[in-house]
Amino acid sequence: MRTDGILDRLATLRAADAPTHGGRVLSYVYDPGLAELDELAAAAARAVQPVNGLDPTTFTSVAVMERELVAFARDMLRGTADGPDAVVGSVTSGGTESCLLAVKIARDAFREDHPGLRPRVVAPVSVHAAFRKAAQYLDVAITLVPVDPATGTPAADALLAELDGGDVALVVVSAPSYPHGVVDPVAEVAAAAAARGVPVHVDACVGGWVLPFWEGAGGEPVPAFDFSVPGVTSVSADVHKYGYAPKGTSVLLVRGRDRQRRQFFATTGWPGYPVVNPTTSGSRSAAPLAAAWAVSQALGVPGYTALTARCVRATRALHAAVDRIDGLRVVGHPTGPLVAVACDESVPPARQVDPHLWADAVRSLGWVLQPQPGLTQDDGTRLPHTTHLTVTPVTEAGLDGLVPALVAGADAVRGEARPDVSAVLGALAGAFARPAGAQAAGPSADAVWEALLAALGADGGTERRATGSVLPDRLAPLMAVMEVLPAPVAERALVEIVARVAEAPA
Ligand SMILES: *Cc1c(COP(=O)(O)O)cnc(C)c1O
Repeated sequence: MRTDGILDRLATLRAADAPTHGGRVLSYVYDPGLAELDELAAAAARAVQPVNGLDPTTFTSVAVMERELVAFARDMLRGTADGPDAVVGSVTSGGTESCLLAVKIARDAFREDHPGLRPRVVAPVSVHAAFRKAAQYLDVAITLVPVDPATGTPAADALLAELDGGDVALVVVSAPSYPHGVVDPVAEVAAAAAARGVPVHVDACVGGWVLPFWEGAGGEPVPAFDFSVPGVTSVSADVHKYGYAPKGTSVLLVRGRDRQRRQFFATTGWPGYPVVNPTTSGSRSAAPLAAAWAVSQALGVPGYTALTARCVRATRALHAAVDRIDGLRVVGHPTGPLVAVACDESVPPARQVDPHLWADAVRSLGWVLQPQPGLTQDDGTRLPHTTHLTVTPVTEAGLDGLVPALVAGADAVRGEARPDVSAVLGALAGAFARPAGAQAAGPSADAVWEALLAALGADGGTERRATGSVLPDRLAPLMAVMEVLPAPVAERALVEIVARVAEAPA
């Protein structure tokens, strides 16, 4: 066996990644800027490397760490430990899995009480895409209620108007929503939902480990969103976001043991070992749990409060910086460390800044912001396209570089219109147009790829490079195309791009 060279190659590949530390990437990564915490997490993960998290009765370290991490989250989110309302929970692989399981619990509870009726989830349109995925995977209906296009805030009465159909298994609200950083009206929705017997999930995947410390760290007051709110039946909170753990850990907390047991899958109906799984996996690594547990033990409430204080100061500074940039505006009144920036259409076009052109310009200066497409809601109103910034503790130390880059990026593209994508659009939509009588299966993978190559060109970034990079450096044209294509066409095209990225070479 030869091991030499393998890690060198990995180091080369890693060098081509977007930087995970130092605050250059304002999404995906949550860097506390504490090297010793990274070391601790790595050592904890290594210590359990051979363990199978599938069976906490055999590998008892898994049970102890899970208990302690869940207890930390329960206390942080103000759940009671005893009685019929006891908040219990489990550690999942991430936010998507926590959301999926919250929907499964609600679906199964609803089916028990309403045999033959198809359950429905109601949520603001700004709810994380994981709930659309859950609806698709678990075969439940989903109704997405429009939010105020100016602020990204859902109106409680619009959500409540959807609750009387008799088929609602779950209402979901966010604390905060990912696209706009808005804390939804949790208390109002929960009170009205409880009166109708409808369970409420609070998706605090991104906020769950930072909002509890926000006000104590000098931030603006945060409306109650946790188990202190009557009617809230479950909360998801990702440790791999503001819990500062490596990827692979979220916590799903549920009020009431009886309710939570529906999360489990168990069978004795096969000839193998009795299977009991609280989450979607069977065998699973204990490494993310061990790392998350170690990080939460090391930081504790004082550590999280101190890191949150850095986020508070950096978020304030960014709000102020965007306010000073002519042609851009912060969307609404976000609570917490997420910021969405849109074009300020109150100024003349020559002074307006397109947020996606801005993101590309800022990226060329070394800072990666995240473009979010515009969206037409069911009521016909349009949510503008925006650029998202996730603020983390290291953002503060980098403000001296980031703020000038935000200003210079805006100066570089001010007055410029969004890319004209009509030519590309025709080419792509044409590839999907089926002649009458053709099969309903849609175009083949190769036909979609050919169309993408023709529309975007090999130098448009569709070529797969040795380092794995596939997208063009400028995302504004691609985003503009995706935004105007019919959703099924855009979705199929994106699937093709992402599938080709990791496809094994011929
Ligand atoms: C990140 C996020 C999720 C999904 O979490 P993953 O860990 O990416 O699977 C769900 N909801 C919200 C609000 C999020 O920010």
